[in-house]
Amino acid sequence: MEVIFRNVSFTYNKGLESEKRALSNVNLCLESNLIHGIIGPIGSGKSTMLELMNGVTKPTEGKVIIGKYDLSKSKGFNFNKFRYDVGLVYQFPEKQFFCRNVGEEISFSEKIFEPKNKNIKQKVIKVLKMVGLDESYLKRSPFSLNGGEKRRVAIASVLISNPKLLIMDEPTIGLDNNSKLKLMKLLKNLKAKYNKTIIIVTHDVDMLYEIVDNVVVLNDGKVIKEGNKQEVFSNVELLDENNTPVPNVVRVEKIIYDKTGVDLGYLGGINDLVRAVANHGK
Ligand code: ADP
Ligand code: MG
Repeated sequence: MEVIFRNVSFTYNKGLESEKRALSNVNLCLESNLIHGIIGPIGSGKSTMLELMNGVTKPTEGKVIIGKYDLSKSKGFNFNKFRYDVGLVYQFPEKQFFCRNVGEEISFSEKIFEPKNKNIKQKVIKVLKMVGLDESYLKRSPFSLNGGEKRRVAIASVLISNPKLLIMDEPTIGLDNNSKLKLMKLLKNLKAKYNKTIIIVTHDVDMLYEIVDNVVVLNDGKVIKEGNKQEVFSNVELLDENNTPVPNVVRVEKIIYDKTGVDLGYLGGINDLVRAVANHGK
């Protein structure tokens, strides 16, 4: 599902003394079936952008269009349908757990919105598998799980309504390395196998670099740069100027270039870097 921002501005507390313009004239077209990253320093407007994609917050100016939904309109906007197509995973989603077991936790929204659905258990098992867990988790308390498992259960509880677009705020925050690697694999899988479009807001650019297709750099409410990962991350000076983190792979490649003049070319991730360094001079 495509996400379009057309001349979007957003101001908090408009008309008050505390008025704050968080986004200024943002124009973007985030294509379907890709992983998009939104990066930028604290206060640059990342969370505000996500808020504008939730169907509740409206832009002060401009239009936000997701697939067939024009979110800037209050009239005629079918929120009930929209919530099936777009799933939002907030920071620390597992903090909102309150059910006795994983099965209930995942099926909670489905039971509320689709009380007549008889196939809920099948659906729960399906999404558990999508996130790399299995039926043995159904009866376990969500509170007994480790951090990575909790995060995956939270994602499963969003996936149960089969959204085409998955929007995530800092998905790797608070996860240990192993859980992080599993989550990265899961996100790649959701794109490749289940045709999801995924938008990720994150400071974790090392994680992002391994999985992302397209990157948006925000600073002070404006889009500084947008493009595929190679275009965006090859411009280290621009990222530094805008106080935006640079992936280690890119940083190391630049140091090698600056010190030796050796250009390792486009590297898709850490494995490419290791390979390029190992092969160099052979
Ligand atoms: P980010 O997620 O990139 O850190 P935010 O979107 O949260 O940035 O914030 C963008 C700007 O809007 C910041 O200057 C922030 O202080 C301001 N802001 C965010 N939320 C509110 C709010 N509820 N009321 C007033 N200002 C806000
Ligand atoms: Mg934020």
